[in-house]
Amino acid sequence: MRVPEHQSFAGKARRRVAACAVFLAVAVAGGLISAVPASAVAAPVSAHAALAETATTLAVPATVNPLPSVDPIGDPASFSVLVNKSRPLNPAGYAPSDLINARGSGQYMRAEAAAWLNGLFQGAADAGTGGLSIVSGYRSYAQQQQVYSYYVSIYGQAYADTISARPGYSEHQTGLAMDIGNAAGNCGLSTCFGDTAAGKWVAANAHKYGFIVRYPNGYTGTTGYSYEPWHLRYVGVALATDMNRRGFPTLEHYFAGNTAAAASIKSGADLVAADASGRLLRYPATAAGGYSGAIQIGSGWTALKQAFVVDWDIDGVYDILAQWNNGSLGVYRGLPGGGFAGQVVVGNGGWDRMTITVGKWTHAHGRPGVVGYFPDGVLRYYPNTFGGALSAPQVIGKGWNGMELTIADWEGDGANDILARTPSGSLINYRGDGWAGFFGPATTVGTGWQYMRVLAPGFGLTGAGTRGITAQTADGNLYNYGLGRGQWTTYGQVGSGWNSLKLFK
Ligand SMILES: [Zn+2]
Repeated sequence: MRVPEHQSFAGKARRRVAACAVFLAVAVAGGLISAVPASAVAAPVSAHAALAETATTLAVPATVNPLPSVDPIGDPASFSVLVNKSRPLNPAGYAPSDLINARGSGQYMRAEAAAWLNGLFQGAADAGTGGLSIVSGYRSYAQQQQVYSYYVSIYGQAYADTISARPGYSEHQTGLAMDIGNAAGNCGLSTCFGDTAAGKWVAANAHKYGFIVRYPNGYTGTTGYSYEPWHLRYVGVALATDMNRRGFPTLEHYFAGNTAAAASIKSGADLVAADASGRLLRYPATAAGGYSGAIQIGSGWTALKQAFVVDWDIDGVYDILAQWNNGSLGVYRGLPGGGFAGQVVVGNGGWDRMTITVGKWTHAHGRPGVVGYFPDGVLRYYPNTFGGALSAPQVIGKGWNGMELTIADWEGDGANDILARTPSGSLINYRGDGWAGFFGPATTVGTGWQYMRVLAPGFGLTGAGTRGITAQTADGNLYNYGLGRGQWTTYGQVGSGWNSLKLFK
């Protein structure tokens, strides 16, 4: 077996290959088939009901979280509950049962969140930031009523609503939120906290401890709140890391597959495929960890080499990246109301000869980019800098010929890796360093994968924050392999009869 070499930080390639810097905003005339559905509303296709039946379920192991990750979580006791101005706690008077005194501060949090908060504080101190301090944790419904009324009395209701939650609408009532400051305390509840060493460290590292900065700068329109670098929300390491990896700035973005409930692709757990007649089909993920009946969401999807489900412009609605047999690479933006915008060509010429994978490949770029190689085996990273056309590539390796590529985070460390399948069926993890390069030795994480035709990474099939790979075998079966932190977790057959379908990655 040939082992590809790595080149970390190889820098910009001298030669532009297959990249198109020109941003073509409209579908290519004549050549490409429109993928925009005739009617924007997805309609079930009865012809595929039978397919759907066979494409459903086998048992999912009993340990998996049964919550449908596509839905914003409404259970106030869930670590992934979504609470905002339009989603109050239910019941409004909810009080958690496992509050503890966080770090002896007199401020309370739920036990698991408080335990991870300890790790966060330790991490901030160890990093030489000067450390963190606790400002405000759990507030009951009654306490929130006092806080809100106080702000209304000072500022009036309109402004008070941008800085304080109404009772029953506060994350602090979940026991999962903590307002923090720098240890010196001079930036408590002030945006200057975000400019301190401690604040910067928290913004970059909170996800490793299961926290998110819930109200980031520039997203008032989404969250309803002004920038609050101090307001941390515990969501668990899996979900926080998942958000970080995929570049979702807010919990609302994370659940956008549902708030944009009319979008054609609703969830990172859904499967999308094209059948032999070019119909574009979505197979919705079910709460049980399988897939339900096919829904047609487009037509004209023949002449594809491969396609990918990806949030190209990170607007919270899934898009499709299409690698056409005629050599072009195009993005179809998913529309919140359903359907897709016309193709934007993001790469011209030669892409039919490339083997590619798509995903966030460096912390330096928030949007998912393309990693791939021509038959020469030279691996290149093509940044998606603007959510449109790809930028000039950089060489990141050589000797990759014959490998099938899948970007996924094997270690669960928030930096994507490349899972490469060799011609002989070994699946090898090439660990990404988070900055477009590799580090550490490659490790074999599977054998016998030569029977897999397509490996499609997915998110949330077996619960909020979960990750996995759905594999389509040459004989038309589907299997899902859960990804843990450096290991496989769940495993199960999730479909059959997929022989004539082209599964999107
Ligand atoms: Zn707060």
